Amino acid sequence: MNREEILAKIAEETATCTKCALQHSRKNSVPGSGRVDASIMFIGEGPGFHENEQGLPFVGAAGRFLDELLQQVGLSRDQVFITNVVKCRPPGNRDPQAEELQACDSYLERQIQTINPKVIVTLGRFSMQKFLPNAKISQSHGQAVRVRGRLVVPFYHPAAALHQPSLRSTVEADFARLPEWIEKAGDVPEYKEPTEDDSDDQKPEQLSLF
Ligand code: URA
Ligand code: SF4
Repeated sequence: MNREEILAKIAEETATCTKCALQHSRKNSVPGSGRVDASIMFIGEGPGFHENEQGLPFVGAAGRFLDELLQQVGLSRDQVFITNVVKCRPPGNRDPQAEELQACDSYLERQIQTINPKVIVTLGRFSMQKFLPNAKISQSHGQAVRVRGRLVVPFYHPAAALHQPSLRSTVEADFARLPEWIEKAGDVPEYKEPTEDDSDDQKPEQLSLF
């Protein structure tokens, strides 16, 4: 299977997935969208109302802000890949629960291996904690760490800046450094075909701050 086919298969699987309770609040799963060979992957939290209606990530207010932030650094949505830690909408936009995050993680792991991005930008606390389980977003935002050979940069969720205008300039400043992180990311790890049990590959690793 080539990358397109693998990503299409993952998307298809999420559409009928019954691995967690979020299946019940799903109208459309939101597997993610963008370039199959993107150098940058953005990982948000989970679909909200509009995403659930359309089956696409970040199409509401936070998505419009994300588009603006991307534009500021000369990027557009079709040059990156955007997804979430859970692919189905949590009812009433509640936080995703530990068992839901765990159930959905193998889809995300397969997407990461398939796209093989140089840089992963986590948007918000839940996707940050996938890579940096004990990090605090107020301390770690905007700082790159290498996790399993890949550069991971935690950012605040764009919705946080919409709810808390004082965060806006922080979010903009973090985005402004994206080109620098891409430059510094170096060679990507070797491409490896994802397997069904990639979710086992989850043990926390030695982190190198820089
Ligand atoms: N917020 C997210 O975290 N993800 C989306 O897809 C939309 C809003
Ligand atoms: Fe399956 Fe993920 Fe949807 Fe849960 S959130 S039903 S694990 S696709």
